[in-house]
Amino acid sequence: MVSPVTRRVGVLTSGGDAQGMNAAVRAVARAGIRFGAEVFAIHEGYQGAVDGGDGISALGWEDVGGIQHRGGTVIGTARCAAFRERAGRKQAAYHLAAQGIDRLVVVGGDGSLTGANLLSTEWPQFLAELAADGVLPADIVATHPTLHIAGIVGSIDNDMVGTDMTIGTDSAMHRIVEALDAISSTAASHQRTFVVEVMGRRCGYLALTAAIAGGADFALIPEAPPGDGWEEELCESLRRARERGRRESIVVVAEGARDRSGEPITADRICAVLEERLGEQARVTILGHVQRGGSPSAFDRSMATMMGYDAVDQVLTAGPNDGAQLVGVHRNRVRRVPLMRAVQENQAVARMVDEGRYEQALAARGDSYADLFGLLRTLSHPRTTLPADPKRIAVLHAGGLAPGMNAAVRAVTLLGSDAGHEILGVDGGFTGLCDGRLRTLTPRDVDGWAGLGGAELGSRRGVLAPEQLYAVARAVDTHRIDALLVVGGLDGYESAQRIVRERGRYPSLDIPVVCVPATIDNNLPGTELTVGADTALNAIVEAIDRIKQSALAAHRCFVIEVMGRECGYLTLMSALSAGAERAYLPEDDLTLTDLAADVRSMTQRFRDGHGLFLAIRAEGAHPYYTTDVLARIFEAEADDLYDVRQAVLGHVQQGGNPSPFDRVLAARLAADAVAAVSAALGAGRSDAVAIGLDNGEIARTPLRRVDDLVDWARRRPRDQWWLRLRRVMRDLAEPAVGTRHTP
Ligand code: ADP
Repeated sequence: MVSPVTRRVGVLTSGGDAQGMNAAVRAVARAGIRFGAEVFAIHEGYQGAVDGGDGISALGWEDVGGIQHRGGTVIGTARCAAFRERAGRKQAAYHLAAQGIDRLVVVGGDGSLTGANLLSTEWPQFLAELAADGVLPADIVATHPTLHIAGIVGSIDNDMVGTDMTIGTDSAMHRIVEALDAISSTAASHQRTFVVEVMGRRCGYLALTAAIAGGADFALIPEAPPGDGWEEELCESLRRARERGRRESIVVVAEGARDRSGEPITADRICAVLEERLGEQARVTILGHVQRGGSPSAFDRSMATMMGYDAVDQVLTAGPNDGAQLVGVHRNRVRRVPLMRAVQENQAVARMVDEGRYEQALAARGDSYADLFGLLRTLSHPRTTLPADPKRIAVLHAGGLAPGMNAAVRAVTLLGSDAGHEILGVDGGFTGLCDGRLRTLTPRDVDGWAGLGGAELGSRRGVLAPEQLYAVARAVDTHRIDALLVVGGLDGYESAQRIVRERGRYPSLDIPVVCVPATIDNNLPGTELTVGADTALNAIVEAIDRIKQSALAAHRCFVIEVMGRECGYLTLMSALSAGAERAYLPEDDLTLTDLAADVRSMTQRFRDGHGLFLAIRAEGAHPYYTTDVLARIFEAEADDLYDVRQAVLGHVQQGGNPSPFDRVLAARLAADAVAAVSAALGAGRSDAVAIGLDNGEIARTPLRRVDDLVDWARRRPRDQWWLRLRRVMRDLAEPAVGTRHTP
């Protein structure tokens, strides 16, 4: 019989599968073991609990090694009809209690979480009945009075109240946007229209954000049915876009889209409209299950890891009256809310959609959701006629290349034009500005830039030199520049600060100056995330997946160097997402003593029969303990137990097309940058601000505050929110004592 002091946790994945569920399972298992509990997998969703026997099995530390990169869920998921019935749930309670499992982490959609909540409510009654029937011994009933539950939302639709993102949504966005990119190129070649149907029965998040990221023309979502006459509005907007120079037209439709009378708007219906009114035969692509497939994105892995870690902590520390909790993310932080409240609120939103209370439904999804809807409208239908004497806004890049820079310039151009400004693109950064290399950008010029990697305007590292300021001031005069937008990294911020400081000497510099954060390093003040970091992270994680695969057969230690200069964001987040054993960050002062300890644990690991030790090192981690030095130290101590390889990932991290997240972030930040410039120009002010994300919301930081926020010696923010995740990474990476590997 199970000792009453042993805490046993069950973990299950239920309902529709979603990429990232495995990272959650790994985090629950490893954190649970580290916190001193025993962890059990409940296979095939609730079915495993209903069936008992092989349906419930112990999960060891190594059982969950190397599963994060896999799509779907390794412990299986199912829809379990029996669990919907009281008898089925009682049977599940019996099997769980008999094994001493009275803590459960459920990863699933709102149906699964409703079931979980029901089970926890009914648990005391079930156990009393089972004891009365003589099926369960009284001591088990006495020692497991409560079923503690934590729910994590796994659903690609991002359709849950109580969490800003659900597991699988970001990966599904990757699949959709890959498809939109592919469709765009063929559509553009033939000047065709494509109608693309994506998932989302009651929530249009995927359709909306994919349309923004994929540069689509129109999106139809369940929460915002178009008004009467939408057919003409759709055709008119496609017509106007073609007149503006677009070669392709893309309409994204959520599977649950409908019109005001509740009639579904299907892809076929849209095609019929286009054929009738435009005489054009549109092509339909229904993405279907592709959206659930593939390897999880870096974000889904790290977010699911954080949620799993917190969920197991929640069930292990819960008091008898805490009630079931939903572990979600809110404003970039893990947050717990009462599970039942979240489920009820969610069902209320579903009812609003079903009953046609659309405004309420849109509002219930939160402000930023409604903002996205407005953003897509303006991006796809900007006003293009400028006033007689428009304000002229120059936009340029500064610093290293960041994927998403083009998406930001595109959004500035479209939204700036809509606001009645003339947008001047500066080629070659500040040097180009000094040399007068400016050209007017029209919506036609930036067509197709949403998903384009690199920087069409060019970007240069280096801070504006004091002797260049005169040339900048002259360029501002000559080209009648009314405001300056800098899309770039810390070099850009420093340059912008210089411009602002020298306004006394050069009065023409007394114009609004706005910085938009774009660097893969994620080392900028006033923002939690920068444009480009997510793309780089995905490139790194993909590369590590391959390296891991290549090393599996050998006993090998890999030291992988990633970018980030003196900021360890990419290193820590890639280590967390890829499941590395060790991360060397510039923020930790690495010592020889640390390295000696690492060699000891590495050696022990290989002695225990493990095949791989993965260490990720930030390029700026230490001036002397370079990647090569680390690799040599490890090699010197290998004692024929393992060999060592190093890989410097290099510029693949800066290349590639921007990820969906970076595209949407670029558009959101650019929208606020344009709004900030418009407000300043309208009021005759020369505001100097940096746009950023603060707690998930768009925020502005005055440039004069930047010095307080940045550690200039290390060129990174003084306060970095993500450092608290170091503990999660370490707790899940190092094998707990006594976990021998049995191949
Ligand atoms: P999702 O969790 O993705 O929303 P479902 O709604 O199909 O998917 O639910 C998955 C499983 O969760 C169901 O097959 C059933 O076992 C359980 N479940 C769903 N709704 C309930 C409910 N109201 N009561 C009990 N169990 C439920």
